[in-house]
Amino acid sequence: MTDPAATPSPPAPARSDFIRDIVAADLREGRVTQVVTRFPPEPNGYLHIGHPKSIALNFGIAEEFGGRCHLRFDDTNPVKEEQRYIDSIIEDVRWLGFDWGEHLYYASDYFPQLYAWALNLIEAGQAYVDDLTADEIREHRGTFTEPGRDSPWRDRPSAESLDLFKRMRAGEFPDGSRVLRARIDMASPNLNLRDPVLYRILRATHPRTGDEWCIYPLYDFAHGQSDAIEGITHSICTLEFEDHRPLYDWFLDNLPVPSRPRQYEFARLNITYTLLSKRFLARLVNEGHVRGWDDPRMPTVSALRRRGFPAEGVRNFLDAVGVGGKGQSAVEVEMLDHAVRDVLNRSTQRRFGVLHPLKLVIENYPEGQVEELEVINNPEDATAGTRKLPFSRELLIERDDFMEDPPGKFFRLAPGREVRLRYAYFVTCTSVVKDESGEIVELRCTYDPATRGGDAPDGRKPKGTLHWLSAEHAVPAEVRVYDRLFTRPDPGAEGDPVDDLNPDSETVLEGCLVEAGLAELPVGETVQFERLGYFCPDPDSAPGRLVFNRTLGLKDSWAKAKG
Ligand code: ATP
Ligand code: MG
Repeated sequence: MTDPAATPSPPAPARSDFIRDIVAADLREGRVTQVVTRFPPEPNGYLHIGHPKSIALNFGIAEEFGGRCHLRFDDTNPVKEEQRYIDSIIEDVRWLGFDWGEHLYYASDYFPQLYAWALNLIEAGQAYVDDLTADEIREHRGTFTEPGRDSPWRDRPSAESLDLFKRMRAGEFPDGSRVLRARIDMASPNLNLRDPVLYRILRATHPRTGDEWCIYPLYDFAHGQSDAIEGITHSICTLEFEDHRPLYDWFLDNLPVPSRPRQYEFARLNITYTLLSKRFLARLVNEGHVRGWDDPRMPTVSALRRRGFPAEGVRNFLDAVGVGGKGQSAVEVEMLDHAVRDVLNRSTQRRFGVLHPLKLVIENYPEGQVEELEVINNPEDATAGTRKLPFSRELLIERDDFMEDPPGKFFRLAPGREVRLRYAYFVTCTSVVKDESGEIVELRCTYDPATRGGDAPDGRKPKGTLHWLSAEHAVPAEVRVYDRLFTRPDPGAEGDPVDDLNPDSETVLEGCLVEAGLAELPVGETVQFERLGYFCPDPDSAPGRLVFNRTLGLKDSWAKAKG
């Protein structure tokens, strides 16, 4: 008997879903003693917002059940894989808040062991070198309704396959001229079991092993064995691998592996107005539809970070989505925005920015006078304190906060009307200055000195409250406003998704003005421009040139729809 005090049971899981139920039962019934999971990205692109579902699941389960989670690069295809993708994935997983400790691995670390196991299979008559071309192999494979046909090389003697495979590895044959195949069952109803290819000849420099190898294992021959080498207990992947599970098990059953992992599948995360496929996202980058993998319109983790989405908001979104069943439909993109706004509303400092400036001159305010007004940094967080904002005779307000001939429901500034300038004074518009084309270029106003701070002693309350900036103190900025990347909720449903790209996914506003203090805001720190939305400095900013991304607008259509 073990002493219960010496081996405290792991804390109860905070979340529950069919995978966590399996893990809990395996621990309870003693099938595993320590849970070991892994997140296995292929470094052939940047992580998209679907990957964090897998990351949060694998790292979350390890943490909740007192186990560990490995980060393992599934780097078996050097043609598509690059070091910069490895670096970006590492940065993204860290940024999301997960930690693999010392457990960083690469499938390529196991190439020698995988090669040795391939030799074992050949010796046992369970694998053979096939001289058919790729097209011929495909043609022999059969279909869902027809069985496959044996390759003429299927019964070649083991000794001959051994010799050929060693010479494949030694570089004696050209790329694509031969493959190693498992010898399983050409009539299996599961096409994955019809003598799958295990190794191909490929001369490509690998980001880690360089030119050491000219044969590379396929995913199926690498994945389960890598899991077994690392002692993974629960190999959690997405549903497209369900049909691969019999093959996963076949390798583990037929090789002298050091442990016996099990594979479990869950549904991929899909989001409306979004396409989550590295291959397609690579195409958007390569064809120049976006500026790069981290273009803030992209659904990649690095793009969301650049756009100012906090990791906490992404994690909360994933919590709200949950693991789901096996047939999960697309999650509404508004739900992601809602989770992000929820965090930003609590955490961001408020600032003033004017995107479409219109000059406002206070005729009865002394020329040359500047007052420092006290403004609140975050009404949701008293600890965020206050700051001083300069107020003077010449101000800037938002152009659409004024209408010369306002309709009934317009409560902002208009001729003869009084509004509150937030934290400052009440002003009344007395006249309008126009240029030759008839465009309004300036508003003339008066102010009421008794309303300093934004309240009138007589208790009168204007219907509108505007944000503003002192013209001589504000600094210029470029602001990039984003809209959805696609025009339809299911991009690509009726053809090429590129045809569904939104031509107005980005609007660049020049000549915006912001509080001078914002020049010091670090890249990646998001603030709220009062009344406008959430914004953060973009890395394109340089000394003397401020560039802001609009993270999100303020309006929460998700909360509205659900509330
Ligand atoms: P893509 O098709 O976008 O290239 P992938 O599945 O090829 O994605 P991998 O790098 O192989 O990308 O994925 C690493 C892990 O992330 C896998 O276990 C995969 O199942 C998981 N994953 C990928 N996309 C999603 C998604 N949309 N939702 C949940 N998990 C995902
Ligand atoms: Mg993949």
